[in-house]
Amino acid sequence: MPTPDCVYTPFYQSCLLAPYSEYVIHGFTGKPFSYGGPDTSANPRPRVLENRKQLLSSITSNASEWLIPEQVHGHRVGQTGDCQFLKTDAIALITPEKPVMLLFADCVPIMLYEPDRHVGAVIHAGWRGTAQAIAQEAVLTLQNKANASPSGMIAVIGPCISVCCFQVSMPVAEALADAIGLTVEAMADQGFLQWDEAYPQNPRMDLKAINQYQLQQAGITQIEVAPACTRCDEANLFSFRRGEDGRNSAYLLLKDKSLNSY
Ligand SMILES: [Zn+2]
Repeated sequence: MPTPDCVYTPFYQSCLLAPYSEYVIHGFTGKPFSYGGPDTSANPRPRVLENRKQLLSSITSNASEWLIPEQVHGHRVGQTGDCQFLKTDAIALITPEKPVMLLFADCVPIMLYEPDRHVGAVIHAGWRGTAQAIAQEAVLTLQNKANASPSGMIAVIGPCISVCCFQVSMPVAEALADAIGLTVEAMADQGFLQWDEAYPQNPRMDLKAINQYQLQQAGITQIEVAPACTRCDEANLFSFRRGEDGRNSAYLLLKDKSLNSY
C-alpha cells in the first residue's frame, strides 16, 4: 500500500488555479494514482486501481458521483448532467458539485476555468481532437451555456507527449496544419513542428503549442503549460508510445460556493 501522504497528491497542479483552491479542486495524476497500468512489481495494477479509488473518494465521499466519460477522439463537448456514460472528449462543468475525470496516455489534457461564472471544462485533445479544435469548442460551450468570458478564463495544458517525442506521418501533420490555417512549412517556421534529418516524412509536432495557439485564438490570455512529457518521464507518467496501457488523468470539481461548506 502507498503511504497516505502520497495517495492524494497529484503529479501536477496549476499555479494559475491555486488562488481558487478552496472551491476549484483539480489535478493531473500520473502513475501511482491513475487507471490501468502495466502489471509490474513496481506498479502493480491492483495498487493503481486502489489508489485511484482512494483519490476519488478523498475528493468526494460518493465515488459514484464522478463523471468519467467514454472518450472517442471526437470534438463533442458534453455537460455535467448529460449522462453518466457519455461518449465525449470534453465535459463542460456548468453546475457545481459534479466532479469530472478524463483519462490520458499521451494526449493533451486541458482544463478551463472562468472565475466570475464559476464554470469550467476538462478536455481530451489528441491529434484528432486538436485537428477538430476541441479546445475552442469547449470555450464556445462555456460562452454559450454559461455566458463565460474567454478574456477572464484560465486554461491549463497538462502533462502530455511533447515536441521531443511526438513524431507523426505527413497526413497527421497536414491535418494539424489545416486546423490552424497554416501550411506544414509555416508550422515549422512558427515553431509548431520540428524536423529530423533522418526522417524527412515524419516531423515532430508540438501539440501543446498548437492547443495553446487555438486557445489564444479563442480569446484566452491566461494559459499555463505543464513542461512534462509523458514519453520522457517514465518514472511518473504513463505513455502509450512507450508501450504502456495505463492512463494518466485530469480531474476537476467545482465546489458550490453558496454552500460555503468547504
Ligand atoms: Zn519527450
